[in-house]
This record gives sequence, C-alpha cells and structure tokens, in this order.
Amino acid sequence: MSSQMKPFVYDLTGEQWEKWMRERNQPGWRVGQMMDWLYVKRVESFEEMTNLPKTLRAELSESFRFRPLDVITTQQSQDGTVKFLFGLYDGHAIETVIMRHNYGNSVCVTTQVGCRIGCTFCASTLGGLKRNLSTGEIVAQVVMAQKYLDQAGERVRSVVVMGSGEPFENYEATMAFIRILNDAKGLQIGQRHITVSTSGVVPNIYRFADEEWQVKLAISLHAPNHDLRSSLMPINRRFPLAELLDACWYYLRKTGRRLTFEYALIGGKNDRAEHAHELGKLLQGMNCLVNLIPVNYVPERNYTRTPRNQIFEFKRILDSYKINTTIRREHGHDIDAACGQLRAKHSQMMES
Ligand code: SF4
Repeated sequence: MSSQMKPFVYDLTGEQWEKWMRERNQPGWRVGQMMDWLYVKRVESFEEMTNLPKTLRAELSESFRFRPLDVITTQQSQDGTVKFLFGLYDGHAIETVIMRHNYGNSVCVTTQVGCRIGCTFCASTLGGLKRNLSTGEIVAQVVMAQKYLDQAGERVRSVVVMGSGEPFENYEATMAFIRILNDAKGLQIGQRHITVSTSGVVPNIYRFADEEWQVKLAISLHAPNHDLRSSLMPINRRFPLAELLDACWYYLRKTGRRLTFEYALIGGKNDRAEHAHELGKLLQGMNCLVNLIPVNYVPERNYTRTPRNQIFEFKRILDSYKINTTIRREHGHDIDAACGQLRAKHSQMMES
C-alpha cells in the first residue's frame, strides 16, 4: 500500500479502533487512550502518545497518516465568524466555518470537494464534484476548529453538516463522522447538537430516519412547487417534490422529531407573497420549522437579495399558516461567507 493510500487516524470510529487493537492483541483500554490523545488532548503526532508502547506507536505510524488538513488561510469576521480554507493531501481545498451564537460555537463542515447537485444559487457546485471526503477529513475539520477555540478556552458546542457537498451522497463517511462526534471517548458532541442538511436525496432520508438517532435533519426546500424547485435545484427532477414530502412524512412519523426546511430567498425568483402562501399550504400540519435564508449575492449567477420588508412579509404569511418560521442571522458578512466562495477564489488562483 503506498503511503498516500494509508487511512487517516481520524477515519476510524471507536468500534473500528476496538477491532484494530483486538487484532494486535492490545487490551481494550488502549482504545480509550488512543481516543483521548486524538480528541481530548488533540496531539498532532504518534510520538506524543507517551502512554502507548513504542512498538504500538511505530505500528500506528506505519498504518495511518496523521494530518488530513493544512491551514491555507483563516479569515475572521467582525462578528466573530471564522472561516478556514484547508488544503487536502491531493491539492484540493475545502472550507469550514465557526459561527458564534448566543448559545455557543457552532461549526459548519464540508463533506465533499465541490458538489454535483447543481443548486443554481450555490457557488460550491460551479466546478462540479471533485471527490468525496473521507470520514477523517470531515472529523479533522471539527478537531481543527476546536484547536482554534482552545486558544480562547472555548468549546465547539454544535455541528452543522451544511458546508459544501451533499452529505447524503457521501452517506457512510457522514454517518461514521457522526458516530465519532457523538462518542463519549471522541468529541462528545450530543446528537441533539448535530444537524445534517440534505438537498433531498430521498432514499437516504428513509435510511437516516431508520438510524433512529436524535440528530436533527434539515431539508433544503427553496421552492413551494415542483416546477420552480426543478428550475432552482436540478435534483428535483431526480427526486420530485411529492416524493420528497412523502419521505419527510415518514421521517416525522418514524422519529417523532421536528424537521427543518431551509428556504433561500432569492430576489424575484421564489420570494413573493404567492410563494409564501403556496409554501404555507404545502407544509401545513407538519411538525416543522422553516428557516428563511436571504441569499448572499452570487456574482456568477447574478442573483439579488430580497428586500428586508419583503422577508418579514414572507415570514408573516407563513406565521398565518401556523408554521414556525425563523430568519437566519447572517454570519461573516464582511468575509467570503457564502458557501463555496472562498474555495472558488482559491481554485481560480490555482488555475490562473
Ligand atoms: S446548496 Fe448544497 S447541495 Fe446544493 S449545490 Fe450547494 S453544496 Fe450542493
């Protein structure tokens, strides 16, 4: 096996570490030691794992790579938002964001390099999908964010899987990532503090519902009818709105949990009063929250922002259908905060 193909230390779940240690006749408690070095002490080399036998450390460094991510740039916004551009071993770059809320720090992670879903309001999709991230490349984003926060004695409180990529098209790696996040020996982030967002990969919504986790699910809806949704999100031709809603109802029945619908307001496209009424009728009676997201200006698409008073009117109409609605607070307005913008700039620089 070439050294490039070795897995990362962060690729393995607690269960997989147990198996790895068992196969080498190591006692069970080695797993706790290993995970403590990785996720609590957050060391950066096997040499630092001083309570592991030297022979084991040698075998670990033979078998695994340590650092999945190198920091290319870190931007900090006036509101505290931090945006990292990380370089991967094969020259690709990904973005990770720390957002500051009054309830604590939240990290937004990326699951793929680029994306093939093709949402027309999204910069991440412009160059198509390059590749899936491994579990460890996703986990390391949270570890790196936590290391950044360590300097101020702060903690990652919640994680949203809403960065570039469609997590349900990289399902296995995303689920293993959640296991490591949630592991009492791992990053110790409660399931209720984790949110996964999908553009509507219907078969995996059923699969996710059957995992019977407490992890939150958000659906990127963005339109109240089939034709408009197809024009904004090509995935709607693969998994039409009616099928998506059936899967949502299944999720609600199976888990008893509330669903979030993300709705990006795009000036002149999906933000009129008639759209709000249509959306209200579509979702009436569902245990859900609608999160309205005024889109950032995407230069490549020439999309404009919805005026403030129109955003509030849209919310008022949804309220009249008794649908819980919030307007997303913007983060990092003074940096390249729209999903994929920083990475798009980096790719342009590399290509020029
Ligand atoms: S919004 Fe999400 S699913 Fe859609 S193209 Fe962008 S990264 Fe992909």
